[in-house]
Amino acid sequence: MHFHVMTLFPDMITAAMSQSIIGRAQKQGIISVEAVDIRDFSKDKHRHVDDYPYGGGAGMVMQPGPIYDCYQSIAARTGKARVIYTTPQGRVFSQKDARELAREEDLIILCGHYEGVDERVLEEIVTDNFSIGDYVLTGGELPAMVMMDAVARMVPGVLTNESSASEESFEGGLLEYPQYTRPEVYHGVSVPPVLLSGHHANIERWRRRQSLERTCKRRPDLLQKEIEAGRLSPEDLNIISQLESE
Ligand code: SAM
Repeated sequence: MHFHVMTLFPDMITAAMSQSIIGRAQKQGIISVEAVDIRDFSKDKHRHVDDYPYGGGAGMVMQPGPIYDCYQSIAARTGKARVIYTTPQGRVFSQKDARELAREEDLIILCGHYEGVDERVLEEIVTDNFSIGDYVLTGGELPAMVMMDAVARMVPGVLTNESSASEESFEGGLLEYPQYTRPEVYHGVSVPPVLLSGHHANIERWRRRQSLERTCKRRPDLLQKEIEAGRLSPEDLNIISQLESE
């Protein structure tokens, strides 16, 4: 899987994406992350890529020309690929989107800056608009990295333990159960005894109950979706009614 990021700040992308699990996956050749500097496609001797907005208003707008040429230089190598624009005006990115995008061979991501990007180039090249949440950031680099991280960990081989992705929050529609590691007692608090019992069926039951309880308290909207979709077992529904009466 190859990520191609169109950005004004390529060092931000390469520095952060060369660390940890994503850095290791790149070294192993499972994924690649290319940051392409939009300024390299400026026709201006000062490498300008932005200008004042027509109609007036605050801030600067990224010009269409350098972005289009930057896109062309990538598309000439990838062929037809999805082009994501990171924008607070997009649909909020989810785990489902990450899973779906992980099936692509190439993904091109455009990071905006300043007041945004000239609408004409967006209309011409963008296939998907994604936001990472209902707040406004200074640029699209952090959203691009958030999305790449979430997508990359869905690519087979990126996580060493495949089951660690399949049991996580959102994967089964619920939040994950709490996790514990050594020491057995920390600041006077012990690990729940069931986790030390070695009784796998009981551990599974305890984790399922914790997962339901956590989702019920923290994300009742997710739990409601699971109930409405009929994805919970009679035992799960029983636990939920117990939790509600507590
Ligand atoms: N004027 C734009 C608007 O109101 O929609 C916001 C521009 S924002 C200051 C600059 C850039 O940051 C955007 O073009 C976009 O690429 C990125 N950005 C900001 N917030 C974002 C978010 N929540 N999700 C994804 N991208 C975001």
